[in-house]
Amino acid sequence: MHDILPADQPYWERINQVIKNLARAYGFERLDTPILEETDLFVKGTGADTDIIEKEMYTLRTKGGDQLTLRPEFTPAIMRAYLENGLSGLPHPVRIYSVGPIFRYERPQKGRYRQSHQANFEIIGEKEAVIDAQLIQLFFAMSKELNLKNLVVQINSIGCPNCRPAYRKKLVNFYKNRKKELCLNCQKRLEQNPLRLLDCKETKCQRIAQEAPQIIDQLCGDCHNHFKNVLEFLDEVNIPYMLNPYLVRGLDYYTKTVFEVLPEGEEGDSAEGGARQKRQIALAGGGRYDGLIKLLGGKDTPAAGFAIGLDRIVNLMKEKSVKIVQQKRPLVFLIQLGDLAKKKSLKLFEELRRAGLEVASSFSRDTIKSQLKTADRLEARFSLILGQKEVLDETIIIKEMVSGIQETVPLAKVVKELKKRLRK
Ligand code: AMP
Repeated sequence: MHDILPADQPYWERINQVIKNLARAYGFERLDTPILEETDLFVKGTGADTDIIEKEMYTLRTKGGDQLTLRPEFTPAIMRAYLENGLSGLPHPVRIYSVGPIFRYERPQKGRYRQSHQANFEIIGEKEAVIDAQLIQLFFAMSKELNLKNLVVQINSIGCPNCRPAYRKKLVNFYKNRKKELCLNCQKRLEQNPLRLLDCKETKCQRIAQEAPQIIDQLCGDCHNHFKNVLEFLDEVNIPYMLNPYLVRGLDYYTKTVFEVLPEGEEGDSAEGGARQKRQIALAGGGRYDGLIKLLGGKDTPAAGFAIGLDRIVNLMKEKSVKIVQQKRPLVFLIQLGDLAKKKSLKLFEELRRAGLEVASSFSRDTIKSQLKTADRLEARFSLILGQKEVLDETIIIKEMVSGIQETVPLAKVVKELKKRLRK
């Protein structure tokens, strides 16, 4: 888990602002869920055989005996909120976004944290391929706003309950005779979650995976058309993509489209990175989950969504030296000298702020020299100097920092005088 220091806050502010604006433009409404949920929600929603559930959850038992988990991902929590709060009664599709921390007990390294932050988007109640493409388009719109370039989508379809079982059987048959050649993890996966054999990072497993049957050749008509349409929509909006037959993502609930977005030339990860130490660069990942809402007790409702890894976006912006342009309003620095002036300046500070001025002060520093130094460091346009004499005369000194020119004005007129000077 890591601290987000003051020097990094401008990146986070900028990203959050861009996300907020884009969410509004694309018709998403914000929904915040609690960070703690009942453990069962994730076991059921994320899937018992995933690394997240098997190894990565922060789980606790309350004094009352409930078993709760710090959310390792948003989607099951959003679907629970959708079902519990009657959002399923709204006109569909329902577009929801969320921003906040997630927790996974992973092996920490650069770009992989135990507390990380995601922006999560869901579109519920729409099965058309255009939705899958629009989610990806939304990510690219964000990266454009943030000046991040050379990103590519890796995309695959992992079929649906109609075509996947037959493919799964084919895959198990293929691997059965080669079980001994697989890593220990994959030997286990063969029993529990054979699709995940395809995205193992071990070289020996990768070599075998290259010979394995590919799901793309086994998709049913519906899944095939859906995938073709998603790709056509991506072509239409010029989004660069690569077909990746080994991309399965780790979670149980995906159907049809799965995707990740990466900087060009990097390898992706999956929703449960445990074994794949090298794969840590995906900036976002998601796909379609047409069966999830029913699984959680709702009506049969198609849905698609994705999550952006905000910590990784910040890291990339820093690596690529992406500049953040911050609109700075001219600053007024309030200097106070002596106890009486300090007392008065507390109220004055608030009056100036409420009058719409950008104002700063260092109430604890006593000498005029050190306070002027701070004003310089903050690049204040004006300093206001309030000393013992000024308090008694009910005046204040306005000092223009660059020229050093200063003038004493009546305290009651200081806002008007400042505004006049700032307009110049
Ligand atoms: P997932 O929920 O695993 O599909 O992840 C979506 C995105 O969240 C990934 O592409 C990463 O950018 C980010 N992410 C997931 N886990 C972590 C983590 N432990 N540390 C940093 N970013 C993460």
